[in-house]
Amino acid sequence: MSIDFDLNNYLNREIHCSCGRIHYNPIKLIDIDEGAMKRLPEHIRKFGYERIFLVTDQNIWEAAGKYAAQELENAGISFGKLILAQEEVIPDEAVIGEILTAVPMDTELILAVGSGTINDLCKFVSHRMGKDYMIVASAPSMDGFASLGAPLMLKHVKTTIDAHTPVAIIGDLEVLCAAPIHMIAAGLGDTLGKYTCLMDWKLSRLINDEYYCEEIVGLVEKALQTVMEQKDLVVKRNPQAIKAVTEALVLTGLAMSFAGNSRPASGCEHHFSHFWEMKALMNGRMPALHGTQVGVGMVLALWLYHRLEQEEPDFEEAMKRPFDMQAWEEKMHSYYMDAADAIISLEKKAGKNDPEHRNKRLKRMKENWPQIRMMIREELPATEEMVELLRSMGAPVEATGMGVPAEEIHQAVEAAKEVRDRFTMLQMLWDLGLSEAYGKAAEQYCGSLRE
Ligand SMILES: [Zn+2]
Ligand SMILES: [Zn+2]
Repeated sequence: MSIDFDLNNYLNREIHCSCGRIHYNPIKLIDIDEGAMKRLPEHIRKFGYERIFLVTDQNIWEAAGKYAAQELENAGISFGKLILAQEEVIPDEAVIGEILTAVPMDTELILAVGSGTINDLCKFVSHRMGKDYMIVASAPSMDGFASLGAPLMLKHVKTTIDAHTPVAIIGDLEVLCAAPIHMIAAGLGDTLGKYTCLMDWKLSRLINDEYYCEEIVGLVEKALQTVMEQKDLVVKRNPQAIKAVTEALVLTGLAMSFAGNSRPASGCEHHFSHFWEMKALMNGRMPALHGTQVGVGMVLALWLYHRLEQEEPDFEEAMKRPFDMQAWEEKMHSYYMDAADAIISLEKKAGKNDPEHRNKRLKRMKENWPQIRMMIREELPATEEMVELLRSMGAPVEATGMGVPAEEIHQAVEAAKEVRDRFTMLQMLWDLGLSEAYGKAAEQYCGSLRE
């Protein structure tokens, strides 16, 4: 069972929405189905591309790249190619340069064969070169296929740069179902992260009057529900369940482009992921897959949310707290290391922690506290349910399970919000003066999951 609407209905046309905006996504075609790879030459010809350049890495070449290349050759379509030789490709300045120098200037289409990193790199490079790109998904592992932004690692900081959407997204179910199980689990983790991310958005609407779109939220919730209805089939690589996960991931990307930013897809669970990933790379460790980190972040965020729901905060007391900028900067240096300067300059621009802004938010939180509690209670799943689901996939459920040192759990609860100027539950904890205590308690909770 796939989602009961055709994603192609949302492409390449203006949607006049009840939120008052016109949503538009320029993607022309989505083909996620049996036999999609066989249709690749047909899709390329339909758009009239003649000079094609295929980009992939050596692992994906074996798993999907060869297959794509074979289909093109059989159809008499010639192409150049770059197979990145690194064992683990990081989307940093060096690899961007490598692709940029390899793609001939007269290329009309960059054909990315891969998932997370290859997609991000090709999205960015093709945009900067003024070329179109098409993505052939090798695994249903993350939600960046249809999105506008490319998350890159620039000067050690995970930074999302506006780029463009692909012309087409191709996902062959045979390839996707054969993806390594930890990649499928990652895609499921990225999908489940929408629970906490949508809650963050709903709360920001309530507390900050942030722009919100019912239709977009409805689409993402529908996709999430479709995945949940067959959640036990995902680990069995059931084609329809894999299709549902892939479509949910693609749909989330569409939702981001409709909203004009990553709000519909990325909340505090993603901030955790960005924080851990930056720390891993700075410490010379290879981070877990994006979706794996998001899954772990989602469990942590759910646990914090459910704890917050029990809280009777002293709003007046919270409003009296001073903000010691110097102490905060010192903490950022110790937590963020090489990335601290960027984090501090973001705060100077955004003023997230400025007491005046904070107190405005606290006032709204106080007025809406009963409703906030009710939303958390009624709309978020139980933490335990998500822990079990991730465990059934063999995925880690807390940060040390992916090689993150235990201390980075409390650090993330305290400081991951600083990575973006975006209101989430983590900012609520900070506003209420609860970040440190919740960070320590969360670290203990994660310890209990290890036993
Ligand atoms: Zn809308
Ligand atoms: Zn994601």
